Amino acid sequence: MKAIFDENLIKKYDRPGPRYTSYPPATEFHEGVGEEDYKRKLLESNIQRRPLSLYFHIPFCESACWFCGCNVIISHRKDVSGRYLDYLYREMEELSKYIDISRPVVQLHWGGGTPNFLSNEEIRELFGKIREYFRLSEDAEISLEIDPRYLSGGQLEVIREVGFNRISMGLQDLDEEVQRAINRVQPYDLMQRVMKDLRSLGFKSINIDLIYGLPHQTPGKFRKTIEQTIELQPDRVAVFNFAYVPWLKPLQRKIDPSTLPPPEDKLTILRMTIDLFQKAGYVFIGMDHFAKPEDELAVAQEEGTLWRNFQGYTTKKGVDLIGIGATSIGMLYDAYFQNYKTIRDYYMAIDGGKLPTMRGYLLSREDIIRREVIMELMCNFFCSFERIEKVFDIDFKEHFSSELEELEDMERDGLLKLEEGAIRVLPEGKLLIRNIAMVFDQYIKSKGERRFSRTI
Ligand code: SF4
Repeated sequence: MKAIFDENLIKKYDRPGPRYTSYPPATEFHEGVGEEDYKRKLLESNIQRRPLSLYFHIPFCESACWFCGCNVIISHRKDVSGRYLDYLYREMEELSKYIDISRPVVQLHWGGGTPNFLSNEEIRELFGKIREYFRLSEDAEISLEIDPRYLSGGQLEVIREVGFNRISMGLQDLDEEVQRAINRVQPYDLMQRVMKDLRSLGFKSINIDLIYGLPHQTPGKFRKTIEQTIELQPDRVAVFNFAYVPWLKPLQRKIDPSTLPPPEDKLTILRMTIDLFQKAGYVFIGMDHFAKPEDELAVAQEEGTLWRNFQGYTTKKGVDLIGIGATSIGMLYDAYFQNYKTIRDYYMAIDGGKLPTMRGYLLSREDIIRREVIMELMCNFFCSFERIEKVFDIDFKEHFSSELEELEDMERDGLLKLEEGAIRVLPEGKLLIRNIAMVFDQYIKSKGERRFSRTI
């Protein structure tokens, strides 16, 4: 079932809300949970022997994109990464004391920053170290983010050769005026060349990120960007809404706010984006993601096994995610942990012989039940009461009586259907899935929603 854009409903429900890459969201993490908890939870996780997913954060970029909200270090000095890699190895060494490393790694992702900031030798070296410490499954999903503007000679070949089989890259917008205004000039013919190379090297899944709401963007210009993106034939596309928050993200001060598209244009762009990608055969996965019907994300959604983690949608449910490197987040079954955000604090913790855990969150049983409901809705647009009842031994209707009552308004608005034993999200509700999920969020009810971006 395709997503339907209903402007009146979107205007009615547009309010701030979490993106639910986790529940509770990272805004609930606190420093009362730290290194000792992490060690204890890692040891406990070995008993359940869930497969592992590894995330490595490479924080360096060659140049600054002015829209960027990531925690990055801009540097032209290539020697900064060598030192950082040494710390990653030391963190892996420390982690290996607590994780049973015979557990299979079914997913590995390098994010950033720009992982292809690393030289070919460093890519080989880091990958080799990962293989020394962990056991990668034969069919593991191994992905990294690249910045096509800074691919050095032979780098894609090296990336493929060491074992990566999936790629994600930012494109944002193909219009030259927009690109200049965000300090990211990335011509279409470069994208064509890189896509051709990626295909001939046999990468399985290629993702492209676009952003709407950037300076000088208009519906007409963005249409062209979408059409050209469809011509590139990525397997997945993410179209993010640009949040202009210069008081939080200093790089954005370089953007002149008078050049940003007005809210009506942003709505037109969103409507057009959904129409064009769906017409081109892409499946609306949820939030801001589209995938070809044969891509694993769309298949997992069809089979009801899609899940979310800090990188967004994932086909790997039931794994323990271990975050390695500054700022990275780990998610175990009943606990989340985040590393120090600045490189300085991260290095200091490791020099002190510690795991660099800055903060975290220990989930209660109630959190885990609610997470399951929220993720089912966010990922599969459907939540079966019987399934939740079986896993958690509860009576769904009794446990969530007030939430089900609250959903009746949304049912009247045509966002969802309350069936006898399930919640089914309707095409008009797919774009407002965060609003539906928020009904089950205890934290937003008690603490409010102002800390989050708007749902549309
Ligand atoms: S958008 Fe990507 S390449 Fe640009 S500064 Fe941010 S992390 Fe670096």
